[in-house]
Order: sequence, then C-alpha cells, then structure tokens
Amino acid sequence: MDVLPAQQKFFISEKIPVISKSAPSQLVDLAIESQISRITKQTVLGGDESFFVADLGQVTQQHRRWLRCLPGVQPYYAVKCNSDPTLLKFLANLGTGFDCASVEEMRAVLNLGVDPTRIIFANPCKSPASLTFARSTGIFCTTFDNIDELDSIKKHMPESQLILRIYANDDSALISFGEKFGAQLDTTASLLSRAWELGLEVIGVSFHVGTGAKNPNAFCRAIRDASIAFSEAERLGFKPTILDIGGGFQDDCFENAASAIRNSIGVEFPKGVTTIAEPGRYYACQAYTLITRVLSRRRQLGSAAASGIPDMLYQSDGVYGNFLNVIMEKERMVPRLIGGKKSLGEYRYSIWGPTCDSVDCVVKDARFNSEVKVGDWLRYDNMGAYTTTTSTQFNGFNSSHETFYVSSETLPGY
Ligand SMILES: *Cc1c(COP(=O)(O)O)cnc(C)c1O
Repeated sequence: MDVLPAQQKFFISEKIPVISKSAPSQLVDLAIESQISRITKQTVLGGDESFFVADLGQVTQQHRRWLRCLPGVQPYYAVKCNSDPTLLKFLANLGTGFDCASVEEMRAVLNLGVDPTRIIFANPCKSPASLTFARSTGIFCTTFDNIDELDSIKKHMPESQLILRIYANDDSALISFGEKFGAQLDTTASLLSRAWELGLEVIGVSFHVGTGAKNPNAFCRAIRDASIAFSEAERLGFKPTILDIGGGFQDDCFENAASAIRNSIGVEFPKGVTTIAEPGRYYACQAYTLITRVLSRRRQLGSAAASGIPDMLYQSDGVYGNFLNVIMEKERMVPRLIGGKKSLGEYRYSIWGPTCDSVDCVVKDARFNSEVKVGDWLRYDNMGAYTTTTSTQFNGFNSSHETFYVSSETLPGY
C-alpha cells in the first residue's frame, strides 16, 4: 500500500533564512527597542500600537529538540495554533508537514507551495464542501470518528486515506478534546467494519490528548488503545501503518513525555510503526513576544485607595484580542515594563484590555518595581500559541498586529 510516500523522512528542502546570529533575548530586545522608537516618533498615543516580535530561531531550536527526542516521528504542525504565513513557510522549510482542519487552513498551506501529501485534514467532522475542496487539491489523508462521516467520505472523497481518531484524554490538560472528538474503544470495531463495507482505506489510528497535557501517562494509555484499534483493523483485512500521536506537547515536560512515548511505542508496537504527530503549541508558543502599550490609567481614590485596591492600567490588547488564554486556559500573564526606572518601592496594578467589557482583565494583580504611566510599554513573552488565531475585533479594537522577525538560530548543516 502506497501511503503518504514522503512521511518516513523529513521533508527538509530549502535553506533557512538567517537574518542575524546573536543571543536570542538580545535580538528580541533590539527589535522591540527599534520598533518602539519608531512608533513613539510617528504616532499619537492610541493608534494600534501593539506588536509582536517573533524569533524564528526559537522555532528552529524546538525543531532540533524534536528531532533529538522523537527521532523518526514526523511532525505535522497544527495550523490552528498560529497560522502566521511566515511561520508556516519557515516550518515548511524546516521539513514539517501540516495538520489542517478547515478549507482556509488548507489553502494557507497549499499557497506556500507545500505538497498536498504533506497535509493531513485532521478534522473528524468535515463538511461535504471541505471534503470536495480537499479532494480537488490532492489532500486525501483525513481523520474520522463516526459512522455518518464515513458515509460522507464515501460520497465526497472515496479515495481517501483514513485515520481513525480514537478517544484520549489527559485530565490535567488545559483544554481537553475528549468530549468533542474521538471514538470510544467499544465503538472502533463497528466503525472499522463500516469502513471496510464501504470499501474505504484505513491507514492508521490517531488521538489527541488535549492541549497543554502535563501527564505522559495520557500518551501511554492512548498508544495502548491505538494498538488495540490497529489489531481490530488488521483482523478486518486493513493494513494500517500510521500511528498519529496528535498534539498536546508541553514545553516544560517534553523530554519526559517523549521518552514515555518512545517506550510505549516499543512495547505496544513491537514490530515498529510509522509514527507521526500534530504539535502546535510546542513549535509556536515561545517564539512570539507581544508588546502592548498603556493607553490610560485609573488611580484609585477614596475608600478603594484606602483599602489598597491596585490602580488600573488599560492597555492596547486584551482578552478579546490576543489574551483569550487568560480565560480559556486560566493562564497567568506576567508583564514586564520596558525601560522602567527601578525604584525601591513595589507598584501594583490590575491590567485591563481596551474593550468596555468587565471580563476584559488581563492580570488581576501585577507587580512592578517602578511606576507604570500612560504611554509606557509592556512586554509579554511566550505569546505564540492560540493568540492571533483566536483574536477578535470586538468593540472595534484591532487585534491583528504587525510582527517583526528576527532569527537567532540555524540548523546544523545549513
Ligand atoms: C489543536 C490540535 C492539535 C495541536 O495541539 P497542541 O496542544 O497545540 O499541540 C493537534 N491535533 C489536533 C487534532 C488538534 O485539534
């Protein structure tokens, strides 16, 4: 069976552009500085002053770490995490494939000249129109987890290469997908039978433990379940070859998770299996720094001041913009004041987005060692994952900011 012919090797092709080689933090600092001085000269306070600085070297570094920890596991970057075309192009050059869930995501990747065999349409519940689009562009690899989807696939993309998405869940994940997607193990046999009856081709099994998974056991359990589904498929006559271990890789425990995953695959698939993954956050999160500006400040007076309620800062971006994770993932944001003069005192503020909604609070109690004033700039690190892709224009505030790119790293051999 000729499935995804290129997947055994990484798709490294073009050279990675090197903008400059230097200490990563220093490069980002310089980019921030020069952008701030440009804006300060040009605009009256209150235009769209937020901006991103992206260090593509961080992406290279994560990729190198991936190759080291999960050798032979082809990553298909999950586009929904951050669909910045420059990032997508950079990842394409590094040699990743892509996990797309919609027509627009597929189009974005195809527009870069990426071969359709490097794309998985990893949405188990697809519209007929999106199946027709995928088929017309040569994207045939897709996931399913229910009977109606199989009927729809039979009708709109009969030559598809199917991956059965099974249920998996890490209770510790920031956002779990268990309730929305994934076939329970007591349903996989009947789903596979139906696929067989319809004459469809099942090439593998996938799962997604949830974004921000902390517990490597979730991967181990899912790999064991996947091996059970593999056996069921083989018993029917399919020849599944692909194990897709999904996304959910957490930066701070990646090495642990990777070693648990390698171990489990060795145990559950003693004859070996072609393994692929769909990391999103892992590649995008650290690379982006967001800079916001303080647009106004409300100092407490009267009894609020007397009872120590912090003064309030209103900045140029909030939870309806690039800070949705404050609500979705209960992420605690840690702003740093750019260029503040240190003093001995501690200054406490609550920080709010620009909209008129009271849930638009980015930090309840931020501490600085100098006073923060209107016109000051705040820096937030690790803002590359689920920020730009979930932002809105609520209340008329623009949240699609400009991004400035630096690169602190190159791959060895380039
Ligand atoms: C969102 C998603 C991913 C990426 O998850 P991360 O936590 O960002 O790694 C991968 N696969 C599927 C099917 C997804 O829905």
